[in-house]
Amino acid sequence: MSNKTLRLILGDQLNTQHSWYASVNPNITYVMMEIRSETDYANHHIQKVLGFFAAMRHFAQWLASQNHQVIYIRLNDVENAQSFSANCKNLIEEHHYTKFEYQLPDEWRVDQHLKEFAAELNIETAVADTEHFYSTRTELSDIFKGKKMYLMETFYRHMRKKHFVLMDDQMQPLNGKWNFDGDNREKLPRHHVPVRPLLFSNDLTDIEVDLKQEGVKTIGTVDSKNFIWPVNRLQALTLMDYFMKNCLKFFGTFQDAMAPGEWSLYHSRLSFAMNVKMISPDEVVKSAISYYNKHQEQIAFHQLEGFVRQIIGWREYMRGIYWMKMPDYSSMNYFGHTDKLPEWYWTGKTKMHCMKQAITQSLDHAYAHHIQRLMVTGNFALLAGVHPDEVDAWYLGIYIDAIEWVEITNTRGMSQFADGGIVGTKPYISSATYINKMSSYCSGCYYDKSKKTGHKSCPFNSLYWNFYDRHEKLLSGNPRIGMMYHVLNRMPAEERTALLEQAQYYLEHINEL
Ligand SMILES: Cc1cc2nc3c(=O)[nH]c(=O)nc-3n(C[C@H](O)[C@H](O)[C@H](O)COP(=O)(O)OP(=O)(O)OC[C@H]3O[C@@H](n4cnc5c(N)ncnc54)[C@H](O)[C@@H]3O)c2cc1C
Ligand code: SF4
Repeated sequence: MSNKTLRLILGDQLNTQHSWYASVNPNITYVMMEIRSETDYANHHIQKVLGFFAAMRHFAQWLASQNHQVIYIRLNDVENAQSFSANCKNLIEEHHYTKFEYQLPDEWRVDQHLKEFAAELNIETAVADTEHFYSTRTELSDIFKGKKMYLMETFYRHMRKKHFVLMDDQMQPLNGKWNFDGDNREKLPRHHVPVRPLLFSNDLTDIEVDLKQEGVKTIGTVDSKNFIWPVNRLQALTLMDYFMKNCLKFFGTFQDAMAPGEWSLYHSRLSFAMNVKMISPDEVVKSAISYYNKHQEQIAFHQLEGFVRQIIGWREYMRGIYWMKMPDYSSMNYFGHTDKLPEWYWTGKTKMHCMKQAITQSLDHAYAHHIQRLMVTGNFALLAGVHPDEVDAWYLGIYIDAIEWVEITNTRGMSQFADGGIVGTKPYISSATYINKMSSYCSGCYYDKSKKTGHKSCPFNSLYWNFYDRHEKLLSGNPRIGMMYHVLNRMPAEERTALLEQAQYYLEHINEL
């Protein structure tokens, strides 16, 4: 019997630069599939499902154009058995493949599924690296072996040195410091008009019809005739170039800024393209450094360092934490929170202006930038005592870039502190003060940012103190928080009681806020 290999490509493994495709071998067939196990494991945003399927279809076309043999199973194909293992099993039996190969999945769930499937096969199997990330799955756990704290900054410095990124010949950080965040994070000036986001106009109406016919349940809205996200490598590279030319110069400065109607500001919106591997983190980092080197008169170093840190620091760090802590990570609930997400997380119909803006743009574009996710929607969910499972399900569904390895570590870890301090050293929470400092949302709000109690008092204010009061046992010993307990415990008793009563009222009427 001749050697015949079946190679599975997952929907987030669209890496045209992978060594698998360097030469054409008629004995190798690639299989890609649109399946219900993937459309249904979360209640995804319609733009997320369309984006994945469109990018997969483009990738399959590219493979065929390079003379590779490809089997592409569409969602509504009659032979589609709707799971990776069932489809691969059928193909192996039908076409008598002698070897099955796949690339390391990024999700624990799929990793388990394929490991079990491969173990049951009575043909040869092999697993390849995705050739996408800077670090291996276990690199972070190796670096922190025996340590109690897993500081991102330590990991980031390791990555900078190892990959010689922004380092000088003496192996010192360029310009004398590792981190220039002190120069970043300004509010948008009053009359500043940010750059318009580059939007594509992909016609994905055929895929939307397929999804409707198959009854796939989704959230959010889409103009499927003018789909705005990149769906192939060329578009991903175009978006990357657009960022370098138009956004890098203000990336760090306005990284944390928020403004009504401005949904992307100077952010790259490259997370989807990178997470499905249409482009690699190395390409993005090299492109930023090269653009900076040619345009130093326009771009300050802190803008570049801030951007590079997000990619070789945070993105790789979150992946390392995921593989170190899964599957236990997905059930951590440090504060024992049990509440449900308010209903308006699915509609945006709330009088809280900051929440309305962040949620509405998420429903419209499947996107919110980091500070909106962390300090608006995430902050509120944590202050309101929402169960981390509920919070995870929302984030995993609504964002176009949401894949569990980078979603859960950000949501359960960074945003909800449900891991008890693996990712962050303290919970990211704030009252209206921070939101007002970084945005102009408060001036157009029904609530009053400066009121803590009473009619129209901003809910963030009383919920903030209520959170500290409720979790005093768990948090008062944290050296980064002690100061807050000093303030809380010196507060006049009537003031404290009024705050807690106000918070209780808001929690009881949370769907009406
Ligand atoms: C609660 C919460 C949930 C999140 N869920 C996801 C998610 O599902 N998928 C996802 O890719 N990111 C997630 N993030 C991280 C971050 O918010 C997004 O990567 C970023 O907003 C994507 O937009 P961008 O491409 O314009 O990013 P930019 O601001 O332009 O940043 C550049 C790149 O840096 C990387 N990056 C920045 N911050 C992080 C981070 N904290 N973790 C990992 N990578 C980072 C991303 O790849 C991003 O594309 C989440 C953050 C929070 C607080
Ligand atoms: S007043 Fe409160 S609810 Fe309104 S925008 Fe400001 S922080 Fe948000």
